[in-house]
Amino acid sequence: MSDVKLEDIVSLAKRRGFIFPGSDVYGGLSGTWDYGPLGLSLKKNIMNLWWKMFVDDRDDMLGVDAAILMNQKVWQASGHVDTFTDPLVECSNCHNRFRADKIDTSKCPTCGKENTFGEPRQFNMMFETKVGPTNKLDLKEIIDGIEIKDGKVTLENGEEIPTKQIWERFHVIEQYSKEQEAATSYLRPETAQGIFTNFRNVVDTFYPDVPFGIAQQGKAFRNEISPRDFVFRSREFEQMEIEYFIHEDTWKESFEHWKEQWHKYFEALGLPKESIHELEVPPEDRAHYSMRTVDFEFDYPIGKEELAGLAYRTNFDLKNIERVSGKSMEYRPKDGSAAFVPHVIEPTIGVERAVMAVLTSAYWEDKENDRTVLKLPYDLAPIKIAVCPLAKNNPELVAKARDIYTSLKKELGAVLWIDSGNIGKNYRKMDEIGVPYCVTVDFETLEGDTKDTVTVRNRDTTKQERSKVINLIALLSRA
Ligand code: ATP
Repeated sequence: MSDVKLEDIVSLAKRRGFIFPGSDVYGGLSGTWDYGPLGLSLKKNIMNLWWKMFVDDRDDMLGVDAAILMNQKVWQASGHVDTFTDPLVECSNCHNRFRADKIDTSKCPTCGKENTFGEPRQFNMMFETKVGPTNKLDLKEIIDGIEIKDGKVTLENGEEIPTKQIWERFHVIEQYSKEQEAATSYLRPETAQGIFTNFRNVVDTFYPDVPFGIAQQGKAFRNEISPRDFVFRSREFEQMEIEYFIHEDTWKESFEHWKEQWHKYFEALGLPKESIHELEVPPEDRAHYSMRTVDFEFDYPIGKEELAGLAYRTNFDLKNIERVSGKSMEYRPKDGSAAFVPHVIEPTIGVERAVMAVLTSAYWEDKENDRTVLKLPYDLAPIKIAVCPLAKNNPELVAKARDIYTSLKKELGAVLWIDSGNIGKNYRKMDEIGVPYCVTVDFETLEGDTKDTVTVRNRDTTKQERSKVINLIALLSRA
C-alpha cells in the first residue's frame, strides 16, 4: 500500500481544481466525478500519451471512435446481458448494499451486525436506456382519442372500465412492451464492443495485415453496486482499449509483447516499478470471454488494486458477431493462405485509475522545504511553465514579462501567467499543481550584463538558474 493518504489526494484534487464530486451543488450523484481545468488537462495528457505510444508511434494500429449507444444485439451476443453481473448482498439491519466478493459477509461493514446477509443475487451492471420516445406508459398516447376520468375509461358503448383493466382487455400492454423491448439499449459497459463491431469495416477499408490492432478511447458506464474510493470505482469512467488481432498460433508471444508495452507505459506515467504487480487471474475469476488474464495492480492508498488488464479474448467476440449477425468475420491473408477468424489480445485500462495512480506517485510532502509537490512527469503536467513578474507595479517589468509569457505560450501552449502574491507563495502554489518550471522576470532582466536573462526555478530541486530568454524555449520544451 502507498504511504500517501487518500484524503490528501482527494483534498488537493478539489482544492486545486483537478477533480470535483459530480453534481456537487445538488448534493452529488454517487459514482460520478467532474474534471476541473487542471484535472481535464492531466487526464488528456495521460490519454494522449497512451495514444502516442500505442497508435501514432506504431505502424500496426488504427483508431476508431464508435457510438456509445449500440444495438442491443451487441450486448446479447457478447454475453453482457446474461453475465455482466456482480454478486449483490443487502444487510437486513441497515439495508446497505455491497458487492459480496469485496467484503467479509459474516459482518456488515456499515452497521457491524453479524449474519445479516442472505445469499447474493446476481446484479447486472449495465445501465439500461430507451432509444426513441417510447418510455412513457401513457394510454392517451397509445389509444387515439381515449378519455380518462377518475381513473376510468368510457368505451364507445358507454361501458366504464378502470384503466388498469384496459391493458388486459385490448392487449395494449403486450404491444407496448414489445415496442419497449425493441427500443432498449445500454450505456456501453466497455469500449471493446465498438471495436469488434467495426472489425469488418476497418478490414474492408484499410486492408491491414494481421497482426494489427484497433484502439479506442471513450466513456464506459457501469452501475457499480458500491462506487467508492474517489474515482477508483466510478459509475461513469473513461477506458482506453486495444483489440490486437492475431492468428491463434501467435497468441502467447503477442501476450508477452503487450505485457512489456504496459510496463513501458506505466514508466512513462511516472509510476514506480515496485508499485506495479502482475496478477495471473485464476480461471474462476476471469471474465467469461478470457482464456488468460493478467491484471496489473498498483499500490494505491486504498491498497493493491487493479489498474489495467491484459486478456486473451480468443475469437469469442468475432465468432459471436458471426453467429448473431450472420455476417462473416473471416480474414483473408493477402498471400492466399487459409482464411481465419482472428483471435485477440486485449490491453485495457481505465483512465480514472491511471489518474489516481499518477496522483499517488506524484504526491510528495517535502518536509525539508515545507511544501507539497506534485512531481508529475513533464509530459503529464497540466501546466508546463508559470511566468511571474517580480514586481506587479513596475510597468516596464510587467511588459517585459508579458512578452516572454506570450512567446512561451505560443511555442509551448500550457503556460500560466501569475502575478498575484509574493514569489515564494507563488512557487508553492505552482509546486502543488505540478508545474515543472517557474520563470521569474526581475529587474536584472531589464538592464546591464544580465539584460534579457530570467530566473528559471526547478520544481523538484527548487534550484534557480539564470538563463537567456532566447534559450528558454529549447531549455523548457526539454524534449
Ligand atoms: P474490477 O474487478 O475492479 O471491478 P474489472 O476487472 O471489472 O474491474 P475490466 O472489466 O477489466 O475491470 O475493465 C477494464 C479496466 O477498466 C479496468 O482495468 C479498470 O482500469 C477500469 N475500470 C473498470 N471498472 C471501473 C470503474 N468502476 N471505475 C473506474 N475504472 C474502472
